Amino acid sequence: MVGDFTVVEGNLTEARPLLIDSHAHLDSPRYDDDREAMLRRAADAGVGAVLAIGIGEGPAEMHQALDLCREFNGRPGMPRLFASAGIYPHNTPEADPAVLGKLDGLLSEPEVIACGEIGLDYYHEGAPHPVQKEGLIAQLLIAAGRKRPILIHCRGTNESADAWDDLFEVLDEHWVSTGLGGVMHCFGGGWEQAKRSLDLGFLVSFAGNATYTKAQPLRDVAARVPIDSLLVETDAPFLAPNALRGKRNEPAYVVQTAQTIAELRNISAEEVAGATTRNFCRLFNLPLGMGN
Ligand SMILES: [Zn+2]
Repeated sequence: MVGDFTVVEGNLTEARPLLIDSHAHLDSPRYDDDREAMLRRAADAGVGAVLAIGIGEGPAEMHQALDLCREFNGRPGMPRLFASAGIYPHNTPEADPAVLGKLDGLLSEPEVIACGEIGLDYYHEGAPHPVQKEGLIAQLLIAAGRKRPILIHCRGTNESADAWDDLFEVLDEHWVSTGLGGVMHCFGGGWEQAKRSLDLGFLVSFAGNATYTKAQPLRDVAARVPIDSLLVETDAPFLAPNALRGKRNEPAYVVQTAQTIAELRNISAEEVAGATTRNFCRLFNLPLGMGN
C-alpha cells in the first residue's frame, strides 16, 4: 500500500510516456533556493516521479526525503515523490541502535519505498571496510523486516572489483533469500558485475555518467542490460549529463540519460521511458501511470 495514487490507465501508450528519476538527492541544500521550481521543471520535462534519497549528510538527516514527499505531494504540476531512507557506507560508524531504530521507523512509512543508498564504498577514504559491511548487514535485516527493496551504492578501490566481490558475498548470505530485490544505483561496474546483479534479480540504474562519451565500457553495459532490468536516474545534484557537466544536476535532466541509452540501444526514447517506468513500478509494487 503506497499512498493515494490516481491511477491513469494507458499512460504508457501516450506519445510521451513519463520517465521516473530513480535516484535524486532532493534534500540537498543546493536546492534550497529553488526546490519547487526545480521539481516543476522536471514535470515539464516529462518526469512523472522521483525517488528522493534519504541519506542526508548523515543519519540525523535521514528523514528529510520523507519530509519532502509530505511537503510537495498533491500539488499540481509536480512529479510524484517517493522517498528512501538509509545510512550511506561512510556514515556506518554512526549506525548505533538509536539510528537503526530511526531507520526502521522511516521504512514503516508508506512513502518510504526503499532502503538506501546503502552498500560498500572502498573508493573514497572513510569508514573501515568491516564497519561498512556490518552497517550494511544491519540495514539489510531492517529492510527485510519492512519488506523494502534496497538501493545499492558500490564502488571499489581504484575502480577494482574488490567492493563488488564483498557486496555479492553479503547479498548472497543476507538478502537473496528475501526475494525483495533492489537497484544497483549509478551503476559503474563492468559486465561481470552487471551480470551478477541481474542473476540476483536486481535492476541496474544508469546515471548521467553514461552520457560521457569517454565512458565507453559503461555505455557498452548500458546497451547490453536487458530492457526489463533497466532504470535511469540523475543522482542529482551530482553527475550532470555531458552537455551540462560540472553544473548542478536536477531530475529534469534524466531525459538526457534516457535519450543516450535509447541511442546506444537503437530504440526510441519512448521505449526507454516506458520500460524503465514499468520496471520501477514492478520492483516497488506501484500502479502504473501514477499521477500526483
Ligand atoms: Zn546518491
